Amino acid sequence: MSTTDENSTPGGGFASVFDTEVVGRWSAPGRANLIGEHTDYNDGFVLPFAIDRRTTVTVGRRDDRLLRVASTFDEGIVEISLDALDPAAMSGWSAYVFGIAWALSEAPNRATAPAFSAAGGDLSGLDLSSATGLDLFIESDVPVGAGLSSSAALESSVAVAMTELWGLDISRQALAAVGQLAENEAVGAPTGIMDQSASLLGRADSAVFLDCRSLDSEVVELGFETAGLEILVVDTHVEHAHATGGYVDRRRSCERGAAALGVGSLRDLDVDDLERAAEVLDDETFRRVRHVVTENQRVLDTVRTLRTDGPAAIGALLDASHVSMRDDFEISVPELDLAVETAQAHGAVGARMTGGGFGGAAIALVPVDRRDVIADAIRASFADAGYRAPTVFTVHAADGARRDS
Ligand code: ADP
Ligand code: MG
Repeated sequence: MSTTDENSTPGGGFASVFDTEVVGRWSAPGRANLIGEHTDYNDGFVLPFAIDRRTTVTVGRRDDRLLRVASTFDEGIVEISLDALDPAAMSGWSAYVFGIAWALSEAPNRATAPAFSAAGGDLSGLDLSSATGLDLFIESDVPVGAGLSSSAALESSVAVAMTELWGLDISRQALAAVGQLAENEAVGAPTGIMDQSASLLGRADSAVFLDCRSLDSEVVELGFETAGLEILVVDTHVEHAHATGGYVDRRRSCERGAAALGVGSLRDLDVDDLERAAEVLDDETFRRVRHVVTENQRVLDTVRTLRTDGPAAIGALLDASHVSMRDDFEISVPELDLAVETAQAHGAVGARMTGGGFGGAAIALVPVDRRDVIADAIRASFADAGYRAPTVFTVHAADGARRDS
């Protein structure tokens, strides 16, 4: 990353890489998931929020058909022609960027896919045949791989820039589906639509309540600021070698459980069905199912509690979510458990691991006046346990993708 003054303002590095004239700057946030883990691919509920860490793309318009992209992340420029957009031709981090252009052009062919049909709207106007090439310069303060979705921040910032510059008429919901299509097929990561939805639809001091079946979304006020609360993120820096395998394995367990219980997905079960599930399923599959079923209920309860009693009352739901992931879904690690327990012991309202599991980050909902005490206690407990020092920082619910200049 460059350290000159010129390059420390967003977009300032553009001119050191590209010689086209800057036509605008767009940004999109990462996200944290307040509650609703491993529910997305079970057609369930999630409650993420956009955070005040953003990826910014500064764009120049070209007079040819090339897309060229550079990032403070990496040396050099990567390019592709708009006439040669094909997932097979994309690799590495630039696949997130070029993948958006490909997915925009591919969307009309996917209009009947669930994510696009749920978004509604007419995709036939998505035509890149006369689109101009672009120079794109990427900067970000979203930490990568910390469970805060730097990937969705990158996709969403690029998506809003491209649609505006190419004059494409597409809803934010459909744009989330474009981001997911890019990530699934251009990058090759089998992820859901939660991250892009949060990054594109988020609002300050609010969360996005998303039904992963209907894809209906609703902005839910968090009220953290008024209540004097903040979210503390604890990045453990643990990257488990089995993270991918574990994720695939948990998905299979969920599919197996749903099939054995005769439902299309675990979304179709509720807490009353668990007694029957215990009789039909082996112990491990039952516990996987119980996590998903109770987690869906906890998301619904969190939304209701936020509305009726306010954010200080959701702590027990966050705590229960962690226990469920630790004991039933078995995706926690000792570092995440320690972060959660230490936060709880030092005055957090509630705490839980977040993300796919086997490492990554935990979140704690904390009173602002306890924040430093809790953060220090977590650092000290990691040192005592001989764990690598975690990165501890606060995030606030922020607005979704937007044009900045
Ligand atoms: P995360 O949990 O942060 O979303 P992912 O593995 O899904 O982790 O996405 C991280 C990847 O996204 C990086 O490895 C890189 O390929 C890409 N990426 C994210 N931010 C940037 C950036 N600022 N510049 C270039 N590539 C980025
Ligand atoms: Mg990601």
